[in-house]
Amino acid sequence: MDFSSCFSDLQLSSAVYTVGATSIGLAVLALWVSRHDYFFGRAQFLAANFGMIWWLLVVAMELATPTLECKTVFALSAWPAIAIVPVSWCFFLLHFCFGMQGIRSWVEPAITVIVVLSVTLMAVTNPIHQMFYGPGTMLIASAGQTSAAFDHGSLFYLAAAILYVFLLGSLIIAGIGAFVAGRAMRPMLLMLLFGTAVPMAANIAYLVFGMSLAGFDPTPFAFAFILMVFTWSIYANRSFDLTTVARDLLYFNVSDPVVVINPQGQVAGVNPPARQLLPMISPGTRLPEDGPLADMYRALDDGAEPGVRTGVEIADRIFDLRVLPIPRPLAERSAPLGAVAILSDVTALRCNARRLEAALEDSRAQLAEITRLREIAETAALTDALTGLGNRRLLAARFAMLGGGPVALALLDIDCFKQLNDRLGHSVGDRVLKSFSGMILATLPDRADAFRVGGEEFLIVCPDMPTAGMVQLLNQLARSISDNPLLRGEDHPQVTFSAGVAVRPGDGESFDDLFKRADARLYEAKRAGRNRVMHLDGMPFDNSPDQAEVSNTGRFVGR
Ligand code: GH3
Ligand code: MG
Ligand code: MG
Repeated sequence: MDFSSCFSDLQLSSAVYTVGATSIGLAVLALWVSRHDYFFGRAQFLAANFGMIWWLLVVAMELATPTLECKTVFALSAWPAIAIVPVSWCFFLLHFCFGMQGIRSWVEPAITVIVVLSVTLMAVTNPIHQMFYGPGTMLIASAGQTSAAFDHGSLFYLAAAILYVFLLGSLIIAGIGAFVAGRAMRPMLLMLLFGTAVPMAANIAYLVFGMSLAGFDPTPFAFAFILMVFTWSIYANRSFDLTTVARDLLYFNVSDPVVVINPQGQVAGVNPPARQLLPMISPGTRLPEDGPLADMYRALDDGAEPGVRTGVEIADRIFDLRVLPIPRPLAERSAPLGAVAILSDVTALRCNARRLEAALEDSRAQLAEITRLREIAETAALTDALTGLGNRRLLAARFAMLGGGPVALALLDIDCFKQLNDRLGHSVGDRVLKSFSGMILATLPDRADAFRVGGEEFLIVCPDMPTAGMVQLLNQLARSISDNPLLRGEDHPQVTFSAGVAVRPGDGESFDDLFKRADARLYEAKRAGRNRVMHLDGMPFDNSPDQAEVSNTGRFVGR
């Protein structure tokens, strides 16, 4: 037989054009899928597409050629493709539904090759055994179209049975997939189940009941139709896109409640956590305008922007409420398609923050108390509790800070204090000590300091002061004391003091030297009869007009 004649004398009817156009359409869609984002089973899906295109092209040729021989040749040459379609479809479903990453890479190609080769072998050897299409095959004419009515032999049914194994497998896989799938994937898997059942039904109708489409086996058309629908669904709703699927999964599986409303404020969707948190909000009902999600209404305005509200309290929990307008795909600035609200539970976070804040506040209070106590301790360590004057420790520190410049020291001792104490009691003695130190402080010039260095002994330190200045200061103090009613002595003798003065330079350099000299002069002042100041070792005082009131062995004038 001359096969080349099968490509001439073709009768190009509308059926031929339709089938040809369908195969070209499938080819274009397959090209698009091949460039689309990856999805599980894409290679197998494309293989099924490839088989389908081949099958349809051969169907077109079978329809177009007028002779029975050529129709039979084309029908037989379709069988590799007829085998590829269900086998690839079955593996596609296996991958799409269950991933099947672990399957050995050679298993699927090996099964495919074995099935395709054996079916092809049965078909191409038909001229020898005529057990595929038997001698009863004949040409029939219907609706102006000649077609072959095949006399199906035993090998045909064997090939069909082999391929039915894969079709049944596909049905089972899609069925299990649809049954176990989560809510987000179930519609897609039900569609796949339907897509497997339809071509099977078409094939059974053809084989068992002799139903045909324009005198032709309707199976390839049913398959082609389903493949187109699926490819279109990939394009239209991106059901195969991993990110879209992931988004759907998130909606159902996040622990954050999510609520979706339409432009009329009706609830379009609530995910399971939202259903639990807000049982009064159910799909189809109107969202309460004064409820915790009232912000969603604002997101429905033209040009609305996403917004966040913190601290939304619902059922004893605290949430951050994020509201996003759902923009129209082609007109983003016009009224949105709806709004979606996401509630993030921040109760634990808030509690922790509050606990942390409280702990911080405690620490601050403790630190303040520690600082206060430390200051008290420092003050206590450096000052005299009775008079509030600095003690010897503070004196040493202050003196060290003066450096080596001129300084005048006066060591004062209250006269006959023991008597006063003994006569009037210790508490009166204390009061006198306090008043006495108060008078010292009132008399001190700037930069001068006074310290309590013994029971009734005080030290005055005046930087940059000559002897005369110190003597004058002591004289003034003596006068203030004699004027003070508390110290004047109505119920006790007049309080007086004796003092020894030492200066730098002149009497020494170090504190110890100066203190010793002042102490010696104080002793001299006591010996000389008390109530006086001694500032030179028995030397006559330089009697300048300012210092006229004191002599070197200086009795305070006016006593
Ligand atoms: P003199 O003129 O020689 O200094 O005689 P005096 O009596 O002042 O000196 P003396 O050293 O004999 O006595 C000092 C007294 O000061 C003895 C003590 O009871 C008294 N005194 C010391 N510290 C305090 C105090 O804090 N409060 C009171 N009330 N008396 C004190
Ligand atoms: Mg004394
Ligand atoms: Mg004394």
